[in-house]
Amino acid sequence: AAKGAGRDRIHLFSPGLRDAARWRLEVANRLRDGAVDQFVVHYQPVVRVDTGEVDGVEALLRWQHPDRGLLSPDAFLSVAEETGQLIPITRWLLGETTRQAAQWAADGLPLRMSVNISARHFSAETLVRDVRVALHDSGLPAEWLVLELTETSVAEDPTRAEDQLSVLRNSGVRVAIDDFGTGWSSLAQLLALPIGTLKIDRSLLTAAARLAAGGSGPVLAAIVSLARTLGIRSVAEGVETAEHLQMVRDAGCDLAQGYLLGRPMPAGEVPRWASRVRA
Ligand code: C2E
Ligand code: CA
Ligand code: CA
Ligand code: CA
Repeated sequence: AAKGAGRDRIHLFSPGLRDAARWRLEVANRLRDGAVDQFVVHYQPVVRVDTGEVDGVEALLRWQHPDRGLLSPDAFLSVAEETGQLIPITRWLLGETTRQAAQWAADGLPLRMSVNISARHFSAETLVRDVRVALHDSGLPAEWLVLELTETSVAEDPTRAEDQLSVLRNSGVRVAIDDFGTGWSSLAQLLALPIGTLKIDRSLLTAAARLAAGGSGPVLAAIVSLARTLGIRSVAEGVETAEHLQMVRDAGCDLAQGYLLGRPMPAGEVPRWASRVRA
């Protein structure tokens, strides 16, 4: 089975319960045996709501499995995180994505590059160094790199998170809170952190769409406007329909991301995609 009809064909490999343990073991073994070579990055456009122009891309990890095809993160990410392999994979990913962004910029296509960082990596000592090394080696200016941290990984230990975020901010990179609306953290507390962007989870958008008749668009608008007051940009995730896009526009979101606007795609397709949108 494939997810989606577009460019980002991913095998939805969903093992039954009995096979799940075997699959986890296989993933762990393969990762240990250096499957890092088999990872690829796809890029999903992040688009400005007012102009429709592309603002940046989010790097999304895929595993080109020799037998099973292109696998989505659901199939391997939790195992990689548990075995500690996700940190070296992300180190590779930071190198790859900053190099790619620097290349695009040199080709006249400056795009902000967003990279997802796991909770474990966020609380590890190596993150700041890993980021510095990638920026130094690629020559990408720090402000073009955005690190996406989930609401939950920041909320776990707010005091420590705040320190780590300040160190990152001082190094010049931007930080985004990802999947906002999936946890129970206080918006006010999150927005008090040194962050540049709030990514509003798809579930909030679909809930708002369902309730639109009852007038829940104001909830989205209130979040966006509170963020803006604090100088924080909002990104609406999971924009799949024209109705979603209208809602996001009405709420005043700065940026949007979703299948309607652009699917995740291999690096080679990004320049053509961007020029088609600009044309
Ligand atoms: P995420 O960070 O929230 O990334 C967005 C996910 O939503 C992606 O799934 C993307 O393909 C999907 N998506 C984008 N637009 C739409 C839409 O309009 N509708 C729907 N239904 N989905 C949409 P993907 O690539 O399968 O990644 C899933 C999750 O895996 C990501 O969620 C992120 O949490 C994690 N992930 C992916 N790459 C990495 C990585 O390099 N490192 C880490 N730590 N996590 C990653
Ligand atoms: Ca993300
Ligand atoms: Ca997200
Ligand atoms: Ca998500």
